[in-house]
Amino acid sequence: MTSAWIIFLLRLSAIALLALIGGAWLGLAAGLALACAGLLLVVMSHVANLSRLQAWLKQPEGRNLPDAWGAWGDAFIALHRLRRDEEKKRERIVADFEVFSQAAEVYPDGLVFLDADDRILWCNRAAESQLGLNGESDRGLLIANLVRLPRFAEFIANALPGESLQCSPLGRKDLDLSLETLRFGKDRKLLISFDVTQIARTEAMRRDFVANVSHELRTPLTVIAGFLEHMLAEPDPDPAASRQQIGIMDGQARRMLSLVDDLLVLSRLESETYALREETLDVRDLIFDVADEARRLSAGRHSITCEVQPAQLKGSREELRSAFSNLVSNAVRYTPEGGRIVLRWVLREGRGVYSVEDSGIGIAEEHLPRLAERFYRVDRSRSRETGGTGLGLSIVKHVLMRHQADLKIRSEPGVGSTFSVEFPAWRVTSPLA
Ligand code: ADP
Repeated sequence: MTSAWIIFLLRLSAIALLALIGGAWLGLAAGLALACAGLLLVVMSHVANLSRLQAWLKQPEGRNLPDAWGAWGDAFIALHRLRRDEEKKRERIVADFEVFSQAAEVYPDGLVFLDADDRILWCNRAAESQLGLNGESDRGLLIANLVRLPRFAEFIANALPGESLQCSPLGRKDLDLSLETLRFGKDRKLLISFDVTQIARTEAMRRDFVANVSHELRTPLTVIAGFLEHMLAEPDPDPAASRQQIGIMDGQARRMLSLVDDLLVLSRLESETYALREETLDVRDLIFDVADEARRLSAGRHSITCEVQPAQLKGSREELRSAFSNLVSNAVRYTPEGGRIVLRWVLREGRGVYSVEDSGIGIAEEHLPRLAERFYRVDRSRSRETGGTGLGLSIVKHVLMRHQADLKIRSEPGVGSTFSVEFPAWRVTSPLA
């Protein structure tokens, strides 16, 4: 028994004692009156505490429990503790829910919770943008009526675990989605939408690449195979004709070799494990070297000059030489005889700019954004005739990316082109600095 109950019993005993003494002293009626008055006081105090509790129970939020003494005091304290524990529990649940919903909100894949009838309970931001939903206004609506995806209604109604739907939202060809559903709880569903645009694009690029390489190799191989077949079928071949055919086969074999060489260079540059060899290069030596090579390629058909401010450049000698020389050899190959080619190196606000200007055939503007794509050529036959593989500018782009440099192209058909490469200041040191 708690002390409050002992006090309560003591009080009742005190009232009974007072009534007995009063009765013995003043008579039975007075004793009964005293007992009644005492009991009335006790009942009134209970009624007062009960009404305070009722008032509090009606509106407990933001109000402290009323003060009370005796058994009511104990009950109020116990109630207060219960309420405090409940509040703490509720705060913890709310905080946990906040964390989960914030995490789900920023989750990169789309998440939509559905009830047993496929009505939306909740969705995150990714689902809003991928599926065109609105988390607030679409709550409680049937998802099949809202999502505009081909075959979606059938999928959401019948999808089996592990089954997925690949599709693009209507009018959004730039977005490839993969949808899956998971069942949880009694009869709830979670719809997950993955943005697989990049994967689909990479897969398409891989397919194009394999098709391009096969095509590039097939043409020279067909030429070689054709000549060999012809030679084998000829019982008495003409030595002069045979020499000519062998010469053509040699040219085709070299073409395949340079294609394979360029492919190997590209795959090495793309490999993440291939570290950049940082060296300090004299820009003048590098550009003069590249210009000499271009003069050999041009065989006197062009005027090739250099304008170089002295400087040193930090980077891989082998890679930079290949990028610089690719740009110059393109200038030679796409500039008609008698044309002019200028190789420049200037310092601009600490940054180093290498440029190759030619007075060649030029490039129409619509081709410029795609020039550095693998196997992209403006004029396929001219590229082949001059020994091009269609990979030169891809190699340049990769080398420049590895050196944090930017490529800019200015060109006008029939007037000429300028390819400029800008290196960041921290890669460049000038002797004047
Ligand atoms: P290719 O081996 O065909 O030259 P590149 O990747 O080096 O391949 O260049 C891609 C295409 O860009 C070329 O096929 C050509 O059409 C165009 N091109 C590149 N450089 C020049 C230039 N200096 N003048 C005109 N066209 C150019």
